[in-house]
Order: sequence, then C-alpha cells, then structure tokens
Amino acid sequence: MPGPLNMPEKTALTVFKGVGPALAEKLHKLGLSSVQDVLFHLPLRYQDRTRVTPIGALRPGMDAVVEGTVQGTDVVMGRRRSLLCRLHDGTGGLSLRFYYFSGALKANLERGSQWRCYGEVRPGASGLEIYHPELQSLDSITPLPVAETLTPIYPSTEGLSQQRLRSLSEAALAWLDQGNSLTELLPANILEEYQLAPLREAIHTLHRPPPSVDLEALEEGRHWAQHRLAFEELLAHQLAMLNLRAQIRSHEAPAMPPGKELAGLFLARLGFNLTGAQQRVGSEIARDLQQRQPMLRLIQGDVGSGKTLVAAMAALQALEAGWQVALMAPTEILAEQHFNNFSAWLAPLGISVAWLAGKLKGKTRQNQLQMIETGDAAMVVGTHALFQGEVQFHNLGLAIIDEQHRFGVQQRLALRDKGAAGQFSPHQLIMTATPIPRTLAMSAYADLDTSVLDELPPGRTPVNTVLVSDSRREEVIERVKMGCAEGRQAYWVCTLIEESEQLQAQAAEGTWEMLCESLPQLSIGLIHGRMKPMEKAEIMAAFKGGDLHLLVATTVIEVGVDVPNASLMVIENPERLGLAQLHQLRGRVGRGSTASHCVLLYHAPLSHLGRERLGIMRESTDGFVIAEKDLQLRGPGEVLGTRQTGVVQFRVADLLRDADLLPRVQEAASLMQQQYPQQCQPLIDRWLAVGQQFARV
Ligand code: ADP
Ligand code: MG
Repeated sequence: MPGPLNMPEKTALTVFKGVGPALAEKLHKLGLSSVQDVLFHLPLRYQDRTRVTPIGALRPGMDAVVEGTVQGTDVVMGRRRSLLCRLHDGTGGLSLRFYYFSGALKANLERGSQWRCYGEVRPGASGLEIYHPELQSLDSITPLPVAETLTPIYPSTEGLSQQRLRSLSEAALAWLDQGNSLTELLPANILEEYQLAPLREAIHTLHRPPPSVDLEALEEGRHWAQHRLAFEELLAHQLAMLNLRAQIRSHEAPAMPPGKELAGLFLARLGFNLTGAQQRVGSEIARDLQQRQPMLRLIQGDVGSGKTLVAAMAALQALEAGWQVALMAPTEILAEQHFNNFSAWLAPLGISVAWLAGKLKGKTRQNQLQMIETGDAAMVVGTHALFQGEVQFHNLGLAIIDEQHRFGVQQRLALRDKGAAGQFSPHQLIMTATPIPRTLAMSAYADLDTSVLDELPPGRTPVNTVLVSDSRREEVIERVKMGCAEGRQAYWVCTLIEESEQLQAQAAEGTWEMLCESLPQLSIGLIHGRMKPMEKAEIMAAFKGGDLHLLVATTVIEVGVDVPNASLMVIENPERLGLAQLHQLRGRVGRGSTASHCVLLYHAPLSHLGRERLGIMRESTDGFVIAEKDLQLRGPGEVLGTRQTGVVQFRVADLLRDADLLPRVQEAASLMQQQYPQQCQPLIDRWLAVGQQFARV
C-alpha cells in the first residue's frame, strides 16, 4: 500500500513574499490557500497588451495600451466631479478620466510626465476617453518592456485587484521554475491513451499565453491546454460523484428474493403484456433488489412508456419479501392517481394501501400514520409529506420516487434515514419522464444507475403538433367544437410566466368563462392549483369518466394524469414554457388509439429562438431528441432547472462543449479507482472546493 502523496504544491501561500495574514485571509475567501490553489485559479479571459497602439489609431470599444505625454490635468465639474488628464503621443490626443482620485494622483499626472496606460476606449465629452486606466510611469531610467504574454483576467472578489492576482500567479509560476514540482495525478497510461499534454505546460500556457497563441481557440475553450485541464476537472467531478454513491451504498439494504407469486397474479389480471423495455428494466430492478446494497436506480421513460407498471412490479417483490414500500409523487393529483391504481391492483392480493398528503388533517391523518407505523399498510402512497419527521415507517424497504426532477439530491439522501429501524437503508427507485440528455446524466446523476424505457406500449399513434398564432383563436375554438362533437375530449392549457398560483388560477378562470360562452353546447370543466384536493379529484374523475368534453387547466395537469380518450390539446403561450415541460403536457394526449393533435397557440410575434424551439416540438415526439435540442439552445442550467442541486460550476470544462470527453472521462475514472486509488482524493481536492464536496452529502 503506497503511503500518502507528498505534494509540494500544497505549501501555504504565505511562502510568497508579501503574503501576510491579512491578505491570506482575503485569498482564503476566494478559495486560495495553497500554491496549488493559485495555480488552478485560472483566468476567465485575456487582454492583449503585447503591443502599444498609436493614439491616432484608437477606436471606441478597443481595449488598448497607449503611451503619451501629459498636456494638462484638471478637476472638472460635470454631472459628477472628475479628474481629467489630457495625453498626447504625436499621432493624436486622448483623455483619461477618474471619478475617484487622490491629490497624489493629480500631482503625479503633472504636465510633461510620460505614461503607459491600459483600458477600454470610449467616446466621451472631450473626444475619446479611458475611464480609470491602469497606469505605469515611463519616467524611470530603464524603459519598461511591454507585456510578453497575453494578460490574464482572473475571477476575483471585492478588495482583491487583478494586479494582485497577477503577481500571485507570477510568484506561483516562478516557484515552479525554481525546481518545485506540480504533481501529475493522472497516471502515464491515461495521459498517453487520451493524448493529454503534461500538466505543467498546460498550466503555464493558460496563465501566460504567448502572443503567438491561437486566441480564437483559447476564447472558445478549444485550446489543447484547456482540453488537458477540462479532462482532469471532469475526472475529478466524476470521482467525487462516485464517492457520494459509495457513501450511500455503504449502508446495508434488505436483500429481497425474487417474488414467486404476487407478480404472476398481478400480470394475469392486467389484460396486456409488458413491453420488451418494461421486461428488461423490470429484471434490472429485480436483480438490484436482491442485493444487500441499496439500489440507486433512475428510470427514464417518455410520458406514457409505462413506468407505473415497472414500479408496481418492483413494489410486489418488496411486499412479497415482507417489506414496506413507499411511493412518492410530486403533486396531490398524481399521488391520488397512483393511490387509486395501487389500491385497485393490491386489494385483490390482500395488501392494504395507506395514503398521505399535506392536506390530510386530524383523525384521518392520525389513522393513516398509525397504519404506516404498525405496518398494517404495507404500501404507502403520498406526496413529500411521506418523508416528514412525524412519519414512522414500520419497515421501509423500498422507496419509489416518481418524477424525479422536482426532488433534489438532499431528499434522496434524507431517505437513507427512513429505513427500517435505522438499521437498513431502503432501496431507491427514481422515475422521471423528463429525459435527461446523456451528457448531463453522466455528470449530474453519476451517482445513479440508469435504465431507459425506450419503447411505448403498442397501439399508440404519435401526436400531430401544429403552431398557430393566437390571432386565429376563433378557428382553434371551432376545431375544439368539431372534435368534441365527434366524441373526443380535449384539454385547454393556460400558462403564465408568474409562479403565482393565484394569477394562474385567475387566467384559467377567465379562459374558462370565455370558452363556456363560445361553446355553450359543450360541458366544460376547470382545474387549477388553488382548488381543494377534493374538488380537483372530482373534476378529474368527471373528465376521466367522459362527463366533461373539455377541461381548462393550468399546468397542474403536467405530470402523469392519464385520460386515454383525450386526443386534442391546446396550449396557450407555449413560448413561455421549457420544451421538456411542453413535451410533458403534450404527453397527456396520444394515449389512446385515435390520432391526437396538439395546437401550440403562440402569441405573435415569436422571437427567432422561440420559433426554433417550437419548431422542434412540431418535428419531434421523442423526449430524448427534444431534451438534447433544448440543451443546445438553452444550456444545462435551464434544462436541469436552476434550483436543482447537483448542477456544478466548472472552471475550465463546459458540459456542452466537452460532451465528447465524457465517455473517456468515465473510463478513466473507473481505471483510477481500481489502479490508482491513492490519487483520487488529491485530484478531487485539487478541483473541488471543500464546500462543493460536502454540499451534496
Ligand atoms: P408513464 O408513467 O410512463 O407516463 P403510465 O405508467 O402512466 O406511463 O402508463 C401509461 C398508460 O399506458 C397507462 O394507461 C397504462 O395502463 C398503459 N400501459 C402501460 N404499459 C402497458 C403495456 N405494456 N401495454 C399496454 N398498455 C400499457
Ligand atoms: Mg407516470
């Protein structure tokens, strides 16, 4: 067993001349404590100060170095008092303007003195001006050399100047040149196999790029030095995720033998066969449940791919083995639908189902809690309320979480503690209908195993989607009328940007009134988030039972609700929603065998991006394709949801740009774990701040 690595770059920054306790404290706030931290604190961008520009050649907007002689310096009273210094170089004149200045500065900028300055050139009251330029005096005896490399601009914090950060990185690079080493944590075979440049060269190049550097490549993050570091950074993140997974999996889970009886009985009553994908994913889960380590599996399956049945099969295996199962859904409507399904499926098998939601109060609530605690209810369905402190499970063995994108990593981790008598951790099955692009899944969900339900049950016809401007609303209403006259059912979905449920509800009410007036021959229902659960359930039941032709709804119907006879959906202002959300909504139709239609009733004029995004909805019904395109158009933060924990900020890497590196990074990560375990933690420490490493746990 090799000993701990000796890493000289972990030397504290106070080895540098001029770094005392006060500065060290400031640097610490920026996450800079060791020489290594400074070397890996990489520039955000660069400035070219390798040439001096004649003043006569300056144009507004340029970042430029100029040299000249002061003609005069005065305090002027404009809208704000400022110090104005006029500089000439024989080709033209330029003003330097300071809003904050000392008497000493005014004295230094005396007539006849010579200066080099750097800054952004802009049009001003006195011709071209630079506000608050960086200044160097040219009056010393030895002429100052111009910069030999591009000038780095570092991520900074208040009270820490670029000049300070530059001199720090200068000191760190000099420290390296004095024969100190930078530990190469990637083993030679990985460097060779993936053609990665040596670390030291990459670091040096990024801090001080030579003027000959391919600046365009550098700005776009395609430079070999960035590629080298992006690989190492992604690898460090991958290893951190694998650590997290190992941590959850270090608890013991109940091993559940494959069921002998219940699944057979259940499938026999179902009336149809499982799809190939359902069978495949089902057996992956069955295998996981037999292990003594907690299952951590994410099922991705498009809307309507039949995730609920897969969850039911998993539940039956746990139930037959004598363990409790909890199924958590993000909304009450959805939880209720699951409760109805599971009650119908499990009652004939003699299994009781408990029901828990936030709004359940008083005696009924006590009653349900009791059943959960005693184990009289072996199956428990509910909302987030399920995992609150007051809920004591008898012997929870499996937790199923539907529609994962609404739940954070935190909740996933908290589940650990709900296990049977604190001794066992439950297995976790997470289901999502929001396909996560492969590239994101690999990094943001690297702690989960994934299965994909990539087959829809037979007899579905793809939804036909059209884009219609809301100036043609009347035609759309006519179309709804015709459809309903033919015995179909329709949704009319109202969207608002505001998160306020009250405003959403008002908008839906307005639309409902308008539609009731235009379509007196139809019976029209209304459902929104401000209604009581009972009311919502009644409306949904009426719609499901065919008593309502048309259902006006807010996005509360987004997830999971299943009404096979509904074959027309109108979505108002679709341009306001994410593509994943639109895809979810659209998935409410097209569940039966009749051809279904979705009308995207947009508010004209659409932006270019808006047109492009809605065009994707028209052209594809494949959730994975839509998610990939959405990712390309909007970036990872938006696609995963900004509040989602586990979306990491990278220093060099970019998930979109470096997507092609990910499979190799994964390979390299498992190789490192197996062959170079002592190098894994130092690599994580190098790239992830301590806070980042533990934020997830
Ligand atoms: P998801 O949760 O993946 O969106 P559901 O589990 O709600 O999908 O299933 C959608 C519909 O498809 C339900 O009405 C369900 O009964 C039906 N279904 C599921 N699997 C099959 C299958 N193998 N054959 C036919 N119908 C199926
Ligand atoms: Mg579902």
